[in-house]
Amino acid sequence: MSDIKGLKCRECARAYPIRPVHVCEFCFGPLEVDYDYAAIGARVTRQSIEAGPATMWRYRALLPVDGEIVVGRYCGLTPLVEARNLGKALGLRRLYLKNDTVNHPTLSFKDRVVAVAVNKALEFGFPVVACASTGNLANSVAAHAAEGGLTSFIFIPADLERGKVLGTSIYAANVVAVRGTYDEVNRLCSEIADKHGWGFANINLRPFYAEGSKTFGYEIAEQLGWRAPDHVVVPAAGGSLITKIWKGLREFHGLRLIPGVPTRMHVAQAAGCAPIVTAVRANTDLIRPVKQPTGIAKSLAIGNPADGYYAFKTVKQSGGMGEEATDEEIVDAMKLLAATEGIFAETAGGVTLAATRKLVQQGAIGRDEVTVACITGNGLKTQEAVAAALRPPIHIQPTLRSFDEILTQSNGAGPSLVDGKAA
Ligand SMILES: *Cc1c(COP(=O)(O)O)cnc(C)c1O
Ligand SMILES: [Zn+2]
Repeated sequence: MSDIKGLKCRECARAYPIRPVHVCEFCFGPLEVDYDYAAIGARVTRQSIEAGPATMWRYRALLPVDGEIVVGRYCGLTPLVEARNLGKALGLRRLYLKNDTVNHPTLSFKDRVVAVAVNKALEFGFPVVACASTGNLANSVAAHAAEGGLTSFIFIPADLERGKVLGTSIYAANVVAVRGTYDEVNRLCSEIADKHGWGFANINLRPFYAEGSKTFGYEIAEQLGWRAPDHVVVPAAGGSLITKIWKGLREFHGLRLIPGVPTRMHVAQAAGCAPIVTAVRANTDLIRPVKQPTGIAKSLAIGNPADGYYAFKTVKQSGGMGEEATDEEIVDAMKLLAATEGIFAETAGGVTLAATRKLVQQGAIGRDEVTVACITGNGLKTQEAVAAALRPPIHIQPTLRSFDEILTQSNGAGPSLVDGKAA
């Protein structure tokens, strides 16, 4: 039933059978899943997809899983929110938010990639699944390993947010905090993968993992009524998501599910770690690694992005741009999103919206153009990023008088009530 030909090197096109390998032995290029699109096109239609489950598995003809879906069966098909209030604030008439803050089961887009990777780990018979993570991947691998009855080893930089660490440990995972940057964690994990023969979601299972991100793009197109948007703004860490949203849209066009792909892909990163944005601005495909990432957007803090080169190419080929956001801009954007749309995103969401705002101000995104901002993770996991910027609760006695007192004080020096709206 599978329409998969095997793996193929992105650089020299050499073919490999389906197995847990990710680098070409001949040219060291990354391997990618190779599909038989003619066979897929003969079976897949808008109707066949719409008749599928209300999850990312409605696109399983375009995902590299052979057998039964064992873990992550409820992932995906998150809301595409029409953001009228936020759009007004940013000067956009047709702004949408692809809202993976509510993805099942661990509240970030990483559940899409892990659902594919861990099913694949089960198919390959790995007893242990593992990953090097900036936080969300840790949560998701641990959760899916638990569901699949697998042991997990999760490697993280030691300075991650509390919510990301706790949200991993709860799944009975072996959490290993490494005193170093993500890039040092990742290098260590490559050695562990070789020595112990474990399945690392984002290393030896990476060709399969990466395909899960395509569903983010498929859903955007289907939810817009089977059309691609004019702009997508994507937060980048390793650079895989932006590359695969673009691939997903182009696959849909190739299968004639959408009429065209006019989409400009814009990359958003934090000022404290922006190697891809820097390359886009300098117009060079040589990504200069950031040795010591800084700032509150820890989920995006990959100084040496594995797919940086392909992310750069995606932005350039699509006519997109790159923008970065300071910590202050990130916090402001997180607060604006919450105050206008009632959505609490993590720092990466703040990065995306701060970048979107700048792209609008520069005229790179037009007021009437269909724009999708990718909101990829949940704010409850990165509470310390905004805690100091929020108003604490107002304390009162359990009496009407005590309440009325603070209500009348609300225009004074004390904290104003709901920004004065209640008065
Ligand atoms: C991992 C992550 C990203 C970026 O993903 P890449 O594919 O590595 O570029 C974006 N947002 C959040 C919340 C993430 O956890
Ligand atoms: Zn090769």
